[in-house]
Amino acid sequence: MDFAVPPIAQTVLAIAGGQAVFPVRRVYCVGQNYADHAAEMGDGRTPPFFFGKPADALVPGGGKIAYPPRTANLQHEVELVAALRGGGADIPVERALDCVFGYAVGIDLTRRDLQAQAKEKGRPWEMAKGFDRSGPIGALAPAAQCGHPAGGRIWLKVNGNVKQDGDIGRMTWNVAEIIANLSTYVTLAAGDLIFTGTPAGVSTVARGDSLECGIDGVGRLEIELV
Ligand code: MN
Repeated sequence: MDFAVPPIAQTVLAIAGGQAVFPVRRVYCVGQNYADHAAEMGDGRTPPFFFGKPADALVPGGGKIAYPPRTANLQHEVELVAALRGGGADIPVERALDCVFGYAVGIDLTRRDLQAQAKEKGRPWEMAKGFDRSGPIGALAPAAQCGHPAGGRIWLKVNGNVKQDGDIGRMTWNVAEIIANLSTYVTLAAGDLIFTGTPAGVSTVARGDSLECGIDGVGRLEIELV
C-alpha cells in the first residue's frame, strides 16, 4: 500500500507478566457510574451513557504528561478499564464477560471547565474529554490471571494525599451490564477499551502535581503533570 501521508502508529498497551502487547481499537467511556460521583456532579441515577476518546489520546504506562492547553480546571477521574478480546452487537449480559481480555487502571483526565460549558450549552464533550494525552493507562492484567474483579478498592492520590477512595463493587452498572448496553449502540470488537466511570473525589490538579492510583488486584499507575 502506498500511503499519501504516514499512517498513524497503532496504540498498544503492555500486558502484565507477558511479552505480547494489546492493540487498541476504540476507547469508550461511561459517564457517572458511581452514585457518589453522580451526587457530587448533581445528577441522580440514570441509564449508562457513553462518550469516547481517540485511541491516540491514551498515554500507556503514564509518566510525565504535559498540562493540556485551553483549561484552568483539569481534573482526574480514576477508573477501571476493561479491554475486550472479542465483541459483537446486542451481547447478552450473561455472555458479556467472555468478551473481556483483561483490566487496567486508567485516568479519564477532564477539562472540567470546558465540560461545564458544553453541558450548559448542550454541546458535545469531545474537547473536554478527548484531548491529547487525556487517557493515561496502566498495564493490562489478563482476566485469565486476575479473574473478573467484582469488588476491590479503587483509589487516587495527588501529591500523596488521598482524593478518591472507592470500591469497584459500587458501580451503578457493572462491567457485564456496560458491555451489553454499549453493544446495543455500536458493534464492539477485539481491541476496544471501556473506561467504566469514576467514584467520588475528583479534584483540580496543576502543573507539578504527581498522581498515583490503583485498583486492588488490577494494577497501579503514576503520572506527573509537567
Ligand atoms: Mn470518567
